[in-house]
Amino acid sequence: MLLFSATRPLNPPQPLPFLSFSRFVSLSLPLPILPNPSRSTHFPSLQIYSIDAAQPFDYESHLKNRYLQSTSLKIAIIGFGNFGQFLSETFIRHHHTLLAHSRTNYTNLANQLGVSFFSDPNDLFEQHPDVVLLSTSILSTETLLQQLPFQRLRRNTLFVDVLSVKEFPRNLFLKYLPPDFDILCTHPMFGPESGKNTWAGLPFVYDKVRIGDEESRVKRCEKFLDIFEKEGCRMVEMSCMEHDKYAAGSQFVTHTMGRVLEQFGLESSPINTKGYETLLNLVENTKGDSFDLYYGLFMYNQNALEQLERLDMAFESIKKELFGRLHRVYRKQLFGDKEEKERERRFAQKLLGNGGLIDPPLDNVGQDGS
Ligand code: NAP
Repeated sequence: MLLFSATRPLNPPQPLPFLSFSRFVSLSLPLPILPNPSRSTHFPSLQIYSIDAAQPFDYESHLKNRYLQSTSLKIAIIGFGNFGQFLSETFIRHHHTLLAHSRTNYTNLANQLGVSFFSDPNDLFEQHPDVVLLSTSILSTETLLQQLPFQRLRRNTLFVDVLSVKEFPRNLFLKYLPPDFDILCTHPMFGPESGKNTWAGLPFVYDKVRIGDEESRVKRCEKFLDIFEKEGCRMVEMSCMEHDKYAAGSQFVTHTMGRVLEQFGLESSPINTKGYETLLNLVENTKGDSFDLYYGLFMYNQNALEQLERLDMAFESIKKELFGRLHRVYRKQLFGDKEEKERERRFAQKLLGNGGLIDPPLDNVGQDGS
């Protein structure tokens, strides 16, 4: 702390009783004073006292720093694209140290966000992060995992993924990661668009696939999950298999409808209904996602194909219902009620004939055979 004083003469200050550890350093500097016509120009000395003992508020901030250090994680994000950047902003707000690596060089952008960027994964892993978080495209994950220099990491690093499919990365982690690594598979079920204002109430799915029993490992996993919990996410613990079953029926269908409507070319109008606004929002929410992401949802969730076929069938059946009704109205206009009466008559005959047609009474048949 620096005390400035321009009064003259200055006596050395007495230590205050509660600052028993204070050390005072005094500097004398000439201080120019603006000319005053009534007085002669003089240069009083500026006395600066440095008190480097902890003040009450220093003590608090020291405690705060110690608390933050004890709760903060060193998180390395692999795949610093759209979603990786989005997550890192919140992680930094929670006082975690962020490192990143990606195929593209994001150094400038990372610097702006307060993230240290490493073009070479060897350099990144030599920083010994507590958590390595995979935010790569679903399609590139396996190739990438095969190339990562795991040997440079600490023996029990926690690996987390945020892929939108879950069984696939779970199996890859179990296949490629050294057995001492912890594994947490997660899916924040929101993105840069749907979660741009708040994460409160948005679902966060996780599966603790393999977390060691030691207290430090359990705590590390909890600290990571805490980020989402503190942001107010709806925390849902479920197996990767269950996730994929539910996600194909909800997320994949949502993305498909969003993409279909985008292709269709929805446009806002002055008389938008609430329902129509919902459709516009759906397009807005899904159009920012890469096609790789959507294709990954389809390719790497075994339930997705079935859902696509069901959607197709549902669309066909609605079309049939519409065209069927239109067809009947059209025929009625062409042939009047005659056809309808004939159908009813044939049905009645069927009933009378116990399923087989009986000959109609002759007087029911018109001259023209109708
Ligand atoms: P994405 O298109 O699924 O993935 C883009 C990321 O993958 C970028 O970091 C990109 O690196 C990297 N990548 C792509 N091809 C690669 C390759 N051949 N080799 C190495 N890296 C490659 O878009 P995203 O939205 O950022 O999603 C990232 C992950 O988060 C995905 O697994 C997705 O399922 C998941 N997720 C996304 C959302 C969302 O709303 N966007 C929500 C939840 C979960 P470069 O940029 O360096 O090329």
